[in-house]
Parts: sequence; structure tokens; C-alpha cells
Amino acid sequence: MRAKEQERVVIIGGGPSGLTAGYQLADSAIPVTVLEKHSIVGGIARTESYKGFSFDMGGHRFFSKSKAVNDFWDKLLADRFLTRPRQSRIYYRRKFFDYPLRAMNAFRNLGIIDSSLIMFSCLRWKAFPYKEETTFEQWVTNRFGKRLFKTFFESYTEKVWGISCSELSADWAAQRIKGLSLKTAVLSALGKKDKGIKTLIESFKYPEKGPGMMWEEVASQIVSKGSDVRLDANVTRIHRTGNKITKVETVDQKSKATSVLPGTDFISSMPLSELVLKMDPPAPEHVRRAAEKLSYRDFLTVCLIVNVENLFSDNWIYIHDSNVKVGRIQNYKNWSPKMVPNQTQSSLGLEYFCNEGDSIWNMPDQDLVELAKQEMQELGLLEVEDVVDGCVFRVEKSYPVYDSTYREHVAALREFVGEFDNLQTIGRNGLHRYNNQDHAMITGFIAAENIVNGTDTDVWAVNEDKQYHEELSTAESEQASLAAAQDPELTPLHSVPRNAAKPDDRESPLTDPTKKIERVVQPAQL
Ligand SMILES: Cc1cc2nc3c(=O)[nH]c(=O)nc-3n(C[C@H](O)[C@H](O)[C@H](O)COP(=O)(O)OP(=O)(O)OC[C@H]3O[C@@H](n4cnc5c(N)ncnc54)[C@H](O)[C@@H]3O)c2cc1C
Repeated sequence: MRAKEQERVVIIGGGPSGLTAGYQLADSAIPVTVLEKHSIVGGIARTESYKGFSFDMGGHRFFSKSKAVNDFWDKLLADRFLTRPRQSRIYYRRKFFDYPLRAMNAFRNLGIIDSSLIMFSCLRWKAFPYKEETTFEQWVTNRFGKRLFKTFFESYTEKVWGISCSELSADWAAQRIKGLSLKTAVLSALGKKDKGIKTLIESFKYPEKGPGMMWEEVASQIVSKGSDVRLDANVTRIHRTGNKITKVETVDQKSKATSVLPGTDFISSMPLSELVLKMDPPAPEHVRRAAEKLSYRDFLTVCLIVNVENLFSDNWIYIHDSNVKVGRIQNYKNWSPKMVPNQTQSSLGLEYFCNEGDSIWNMPDQDLVELAKQEMQELGLLEVEDVVDGCVFRVEKSYPVYDSTYREHVAALREFVGEFDNLQTIGRNGLHRYNNQDHAMITGFIAAENIVNGTDTDVWAVNEDKQYHEELSTAESEQASLAAAQDPELTPLHSVPRNAAKPDDRESPLTDPTKKIERVVQPAQL
């Protein structure tokens, strides 16, 4: 039997998934240590700050169809959540298109000739589709026609991913745009929506000080339950013996001091490839080769502080034009007024998608601020003189890339990590899966429950297209898919695996999170 006091779960990563797992375990009186390499928690969903302004790394809508996730959020932040209206547009050919697309607005902007060509092209590709649908381009063209693909998908998707749409796997489209029919797209563009759909797409919850507020609250509750959240703790080595992980080594990012932390169970939300490459003794060669082949996309946010009270009413604007490098512009004040210290100024986040080490990533901050100012002026969104200050935040490995070979590499890594009976990988990069906060959190719930109750539920089944089932009605899921079609961070929401193994017939915290996870004493532990 493993006594509680002998137990120490080590969690790598203080993002949404790691902290959710940590909270659930600490709540069940199992001591945890969360190791986070940054000096703040929240991972990609952190809130950065500069001179009293708060900046969200990407614009995080709190939006889920999972009751477990919503209840967790409500329990943690309660009345510090705002419900925000969503407004976003696409900037293309010097015009603003409503987003989600609306027929009359698109028709007016494109003109009769382009609109007719889009319709003809759609009919042509419906009649004679690509026989193979292995790439993103083929997948979208078969559903909407080549011309619509070129108008509304190609340039933005290539900005985000940095690879051609003909190299991007159709898996990504299938995961993000699943269930969308042409009929729904047309009905939606004509403005035909029901009430449920309106809620789904047109408003979202948002912590008044950005997403990091949620994750700082979770971290502080973990500490108040007697567990530990260590910041600036970069995990540099993972020791293994047989089918067990024994300890991890960390380097303090500030003092450079090394320390070693043994544990009984390990949960990792760090990138899967890095986890495997940091194993000691090293993983077998074919596994290391697979890890080296996984790729990621990174991005940076250039934040501008502007002496203008109301710049535009959108939360964010997609920039499809390829004559500027910026991909998306956030207007943080429209997410929450508390993101700015005074209402006479505004703050913007210009998102540049790039690869760690490329010319954009390496550009000095001051040059990036200048570039952002110039591009805003070129887009006609502000005058350079209105910008009073700026700063830059870099977000590494923000997107796990689904290229043509990622599946086989992930499979090799999954098989290898699956051999350890006290290691679970969770979250977005921990599973190399395009998970939003809610799916990342669900993997954290499952990992914690597996430790508390001794279950063996497969975290890899969360948000895996073959195994999930939609919680939404067909119409809702099609509408959500339509929004996701052009929005890489909005997923049609999927629930936990249907066949999740349960130790007994008690209600699982996955279905009822208001219930604390209670330890089930397994015969083996007696
Ligand atoms: C531009 C953008 C917009 C987004 N918008 C939304 C949205 O609107 N709604 C939504 O729900 N989701 C959104 N997401 C997705 C959301 O950010 C992720 O789903 C979520 O952050 C994943 O949580 P995670 O814990 O799995 O991973 P992460 O957030 O990546 O956290 C992993 C943590 O591990 C730490 N770590 C890594 N290596 C080590 C190491 N060696 N030692 C110690 N610590 C380490 C990292 O520093 C990080 O804090 C968006 C993402 C992006 C990129």
C-alpha cells in the first residue's frame, strides 16, 4: 500500500493542464509539486503585464461545452468573470469583412463578379472534387471551392502555420472544421441562427484581468492546500529506471542552482518531444529521431500603448493581406476594460506568427515595435504619433504542427511514454494535439483521477477525432465549425471519452466536478 504521506506527484508545467491536475490532486490531499520554467503561471494562457497594462498572449476566450470545465472555472473565479460580446472582422484587400461571414457584407465587399465566381467555383468543386483529401487545401476546396479557399483561407492559414496549405495535413481541418456543411455555411452567412448558436459564437466568458488571473488563482489554491508551485524551475532532465520515472532535475532560471526532485507519479505538460529528449538514460534512437522530427509554430505579440480612447470595437481583427506581416490584432480593452489602467488610452497586441530563431523572432524589440507601428498605419488603423510606448512578448511552441509526417512520430513517442507506469503526458504540447484550454484541462482531470482512483483512463482519447462524441446538437456543432473554419483557436467542443474506465459506479468528477475526487482504496493498496 502506498501511504498518502509517502506520495509526491511531480507535475511539469504550470499551464492550464498542469495546474488543473495539480488542483485536483491537492484537493484530494495528495501532495504535488508543480514545476514551471517561467516566472509566472498560465503557460500560453498567461497574462503578461507592462506599466499597468495587461496583455493576453493570443486572446483567450473561456468557452466550453464541458460542464466539468465550466463548473471549475465558475468555482475558481465566480464573479470575477465577465461575459463579453464577441466582435471580430477580417481585413482583406483593404476592406473589412464581418466575421463570421455575413452574405450581404461579403457580397458588398467582393462585388458581383467575385461573388459569382466563388459560387461557380464551389459548384465546380462539388461536382468534381479532389479524389484524395490528404491536405488542408484539398479538404477545404472540396467543401467550398478553390476560389473561396483562396479568398478566405489560404493567406491567413499560411501566415499562422508558415507552411503552404498543400503541406498542412487535412487532419487539422478535420479536427477544427468537422461537421460543417455547405448548407449551414450558407444559412449562417444569411444570418440564420438560433439562440443557442448565438450564445456559442457571439459571447464568451473572460476573467476581468485576462486568462492568467484564472491560473494564478488555481496556483494560489494549490499552495493554500499545502502543495507547492515552483516558478523559474526549468526541468532539464528526467531520470528513468525500467518502466518507472524516478526523479527530475531542475535548473532555477534566475540563480542557475540545480535541484533534484523524486516523485511517485509524474505528469508532464511540457512538449512531448522535449520530455523524451531529456530522458536519462536517453530514449532509444528511433524514439529520439521521432522527437526531433516533431515541429512547432511560435508567435510573438508586439504590444502597443496608444493615446486613443476608442480605436475600433472589435475584440480582434484577422489580417489576411499578405503585404503586411501581422496576422491578428487584439484590442485588449474590448476584452475587459480592466486590461488598461486608465480608460483614456488603449492597448493593442499585434500577433506575428513565426519560428523560434527566424528573422522575426530574433528582431530586436525596438525594431518590432517600429514595424508594428508602421503596419498599423499602413492598415489605416492608427497614426504612428498616437503610439506612446510598446513592448514584446515571445511565446514559444504555441502551435503543435500537423504536417504530413507528424502522426507517425507522435505514435512512436506515445508508445514510448506509454511504457512508463507512473508517467502521464497531458495538455496541448504534452499530447502534440491542438487542444484549447478546456481539452487541456480535461486531460488534467483525467490524469489526476487516474492517480487518485487508480483508474486507467486514456488521456490521449480526449479530442481525438475518431473517439470523441459531440456534446452539441448537429446544428450547433455545424455552426461552431463554421466559426472554427477560419479561427484556429475555436474548436467544436468534444467531450471526454465515452468508454472511460471507471473504478465503480460513483459519479466521476469528470461528469460532476463539484464532487471532490475521493480516493478509492484499491485492493492492491490495502
Ligand atoms: C494564439 C493562441 C490563442 C488561443 N486562444 C484560445 C482561446 O481563445 N480559448 C482557449 O480555451 N484556448 C486558446 N488557446 C489555447 C490555450 O492557450 C492552450 O490550450 C492552453 O494554454 C494549453 O495548456 P497546457 O497546460 O496544455 O499548455 P501550456 O499552456 O503550453 O503550458 C505548459 C507549461 O509548461 C511549461 N514548461 C515547458 N517546458 C518546461 C520545462 N522544461 N520545465 C518546466 N516547465 C516547462 C511552459 O512554460 C508552460 O507554462 C490559444 C492558443 C494560442 C497559441
